[in-house]
Amino acid sequence: MPSLKMEGPFSFDIKTIDEKVTRVSAGNFVLGRKNENGTFLFNYIGRALTDLNSKLKSWIDKTDKPLFKFRYSVSAKDAFGIECENYHDFVKKRKNKHPRRPDSTDWKCPRCNFYK
Ligand SMILES: [Zn+2]
Repeated sequence: MPSLKMEGPFSFDIKTIDEKVTRVSAGNFVLGRKNENGTFLFNYIGRALTDLNSKLKSWIDKTDKPLFKFRYSVSAKDAFGIECENYHDFVKKRKNKHPRRPDSTDWKCPRCNFYK
């Protein structure tokens, strides 16, 4: 069973984001909720190439998910790679589209040939 290796879940609001995501850093996150058994389920996987704190806040008005998890990454490229790994590990329904690399890069997915 693959693991997200993320901290949380935490309440998805501005105060909590500022308390938990204190570094200006690239990173990865998921948004979700707990089911009736208390198990955290997520259905959105995201990444921030420069500032995870700001990216999370930009999502607050766009989702009704009450919880988030996150991890910092060492670089924008690392955040992209982790997003791809999370996508391949956890997104069973292919409703979610494959992560896109920034236009100015030639980064490859570590798990498939989406970018050849
Ligand atoms: Zn891929």
